[in-house]
Amino acid sequence: FACLEREDPEIADVLLDELARRRGGLQLIASENFTSPAVLAALGSTLHDKYAEGYPGARYYSGCAEADRAETLAIERARALFGAEHANVQPHSGASANLAAYAALAEPGDTVLAMELPHGGHLTHGSRVNFSGKWFHPVGYRVSPATEEIDYDEVRDLALAHRPQLIICGATAYPRRIDFALFREIADEVGAYLLVDAAHFIGLVAGRAVPSPVPYADVVTCTTHKVLRGPRGGMILCRAELAQRVDKAVFPFSQGGPMMHAIAAKAVALREASGPAFQAYARQVVDNARALAVAVAAEGMRPVTGGTDTHLVLADLRELGISGCDAEARCGLAGITLNKNAIPFDPRPPSVASGIRVGSPGVTTQGMRAGEMRRIGALIGAAVRCDPGTPAGASRLADVATEVSALVGQFPAYHREKV
Ligand code: PLP
Repeated sequence: FACLEREDPEIADVLLDELARRRGGLQLIASENFTSPAVLAALGSTLHDKYAEGYPGARYYSGCAEADRAETLAIERARALFGAEHANVQPHSGASANLAAYAALAEPGDTVLAMELPHGGHLTHGSRVNFSGKWFHPVGYRVSPATEEIDYDEVRDLALAHRPQLIICGATAYPRRIDFALFREIADEVGAYLLVDAAHFIGLVAGRAVPSPVPYADVVTCTTHKVLRGPRGGMILCRAELAQRVDKAVFPFSQGGPMMHAIAAKAVALREASGPAFQAYARQVVDNARALAVAVAAEGMRPVTGGTDTHLVLADLRELGISGCDAEARCGLAGITLNKNAIPFDPRPPSVASGIRVGSPGVTTQGMRAGEMRRIGALIGAAVRCDPGTPAGASRLADVATEVSALVGQFPAYHREKV
């Protein structure tokens, strides 16, 4: 870091301020975490410089012996951890992994059945502004208005009516377990491929805190930087018979040279996720999210579906008469970073939204437990009720910020992993 401070003090300043921001507040974005120092070290390594188009043992560049070793370790660790026949660790991100999965399993114009964005799906699941909606024919399934959980009857009806080439499950803002066996059954009924997008919960699968989609899916895509606590990136797991199609869909179809430093960092994260300590972490992530659901409910913020089985809570703020957008801004002023989120059947547009999404991965890495989750619920409740436009509201928000500071001060981020 001394070298960066010398060479570029402005960027060094940004990095120090970001560290202070991360340490000084509550980080509750469900898709973020505190990456381990070992992962950051691999990311900041000279392997970054190496061009290694191709795959281990079959590269288009010379000098790839070390790149091959790093990528082979990442592949072997991913296969062992998830019991997958094949792993591709090159996707630059979750969205890149999904693009490659579409390319491996479908042709432009094919019908793809996936969860609608306002019900928890991701942009790559058929949004009109994304390749998935522009190049494919998306059909969306939703959650049931009664339970707010996936309406599997509707999934089956839509599959029978539209005969998709590809069915996708896995979401961005869905707090419950997904019935992979039932999705497999529906896919088989209509002869579709099943893609499980495990971007959000693959870390919980690694830690054995939720069931694995690997035995059921044709292809599993994921990110490596959320609960899994690795570097920013993507990964694809699949059966051996699809290995070649998946590999070709990543390189050369949708990517060029792999980011070898990120692949080395993925290997480190996969090793870290293989031990009993990570299983304890993953279980704690879920326990903490459950405690958060109870805590936000006590503050009048209704957990969608009534609770959670995962690492996130989606809370409906309509009873408080506060939009997700205002809640996000107010929490931000109190040092609480979370995001506004549409709730199922949301009457507000997504840019305003009626809910917030609250995640436990980061605070769990810091070592917080159920007691802290109760405090966090109360702090969120206090923050969202403060109108920063009034002197009383602004002053109360400053008090909440002080309380947040005191809480996170007891659990220094990047200090030492406690769980
Ligand atoms: N798929 C799902 C379900 C996601 O939630 C996300 C990101 O949050 C992605 C894919 C995309 O991942 P990335 O941001 O790494 O492209």
